[in-house]
Amino acid sequence: MKKFLAVTLCFLSLFSLYGKDQIKEEDRQSLTQLLSDLTSDPDKKLNDIKVWPGENSIRVAIYPSDRVRYKYNLLPGEKNDRIYIDLLSVDADGFVLPDIEYGSFLKGIRMGIRDNSVRIVLDTSKVENYSVIEMEEPWRIVIDYYGKKEETKIYPDKKRVKDEKEKPPVVVVIDPGHGGRDPGAVVGNMYEKDVVLRLAKKIEALAPQYELLDVKLTRDGDVFLPLEERAAIANAFNGNIFISLHANAFRDKAVGGVEIYHLDNSRDDYSNRLALVENRMSDTKSLLNTILVGMTMSYYVKDSLKYASDLGPRLKRDLKPYGVRVRGYRKGALFYVLVGARMPSLLIEVGFLTNERERKLLADEKYLNTIARSILDSIDNVVRTKPEVLQK
Ligand SMILES: [Zn+2]
Repeated sequence: MKKFLAVTLCFLSLFSLYGKDQIKEEDRQSLTQLLSDLTSDPDKKLNDIKVWPGENSIRVAIYPSDRVRYKYNLLPGEKNDRIYIDLLSVDADGFVLPDIEYGSFLKGIRMGIRDNSVRIVLDTSKVENYSVIEMEEPWRIVIDYYGKKEETKIYPDKKRVKDEKEKPPVVVVIDPGHGGRDPGAVVGNMYEKDVVLRLAKKIEALAPQYELLDVKLTRDGDVFLPLEERAAIANAFNGNIFISLHANAFRDKAVGGVEIYHLDNSRDDYSNRLALVENRMSDTKSLLNTILVGMTMSYYVKDSLKYASDLGPRLKRDLKPYGVRVRGYRKGALFYVLVGARMPSLLIEVGFLTNERERKLLADEKYLNTIARSILDSIDNVVRTKPEVLQK
C-alpha cells in the first residue's frame, strides 16, 4: 500500500511537473522509466551547475557525479521564453545555484527539487535555436541557447576602418588547447599544451603591430580549462574570431603538416578520429550518439571559411621555406571547443609532434614567430578586405 501510494504520488507530481506544459508522446512513453527513476533512491549527486550568460545567448553546463537521465524543454512565450532542464534521479539536497548575473538575454534562473528530480528553470529572451552536447571525463551536459541573430551590421565598414578615430578593435580570441592536467599530445619532453601556449603568446606579443587587431587569450598560463569554458570566454570577450590552437600526433611518424578546421558535423573518418582526440572522447560511437539538437553551427561556417581560405594559402607560402606543408585548410569536423562560439571560429593543428622535423621546428622561436605572423597577417587581411566577417 505504501508503495502504491508512493507511486501514485510520483505520478501526480510528475504530471504537476509536466502537466502545465504540453505532454509529448515521447514523454508519455518514458513515464514508466521515469517512475522507476523517481521511486528509486538517487545515487547520483548534483555537483555543480555553471552558467555563462552571453549578450544574445546562454550556455549552461551541468555536472552530476555520474551520467544521469535528463530532459529539456522550451516553452515559447510571447516576448520571452522559458527553458526547463530536468535532471532525473539526482540528489541535489543542499545544492545552491551560484550567483549569476542577469543580462539582456538571461532574465532569471531558479532551481526546484521535487521528489528525486531537479528542475532548473531559465527565463530568457526569445530563443531561436539550441544545441545539447554530452561531454566526458567527467560526464556532463552542455546546453547552448541562442537568441535571434541581430540585424546584420557591418562593423566596421570599409570607410570607418580608414578613419583612425572611429576604428574599433577587431577582437581576436586565441585559445591555446589543453593545459594543466591535460597535456594534449606528448612526445618525449614536448607537450602539446606548452607548444600552443608559446605560440599563443607570440601572437599576443606581435598583435600591437596590427592596428586593427586586439588579441585576447583564453589562458595565459599552464592551467586546466574545460572545453566548454573556452567558447564561453571568447563570447565574454565579445570576440570577432576564435582560434583554437593544437598540435597533432599520429602513429606514422612520417606524417606531417598543418591543418585548418572549421566546425561542421559532416566529417570524414580522419577528421572524426581527430575530433575524438581533441574532444577527449573514448570512442566514435559516443561521438555519433551525441545528439546535437537544432545545431546552429552553420551560422558562422561561411565566414569561418573566409578566414580559412586566406590563412591556408598564406601558411603554405610562409612555411614552404621550412619544408612544412599545409595538408588542408577547408576541413570540417565536430570540435566541441568551437561549439557555442558566437563568431567565426577555426581550429588549427600547427604540426605533428610525432614528426621529428616538425617537433624540432615547433620548439624553435623563429618558426613559431613565422606561424604567429601568418595568422595575424591573415586575419588583418580578411577583416580589411571582407569586413562582412565582423558582423555579429
Ligand atoms: Zn589538441
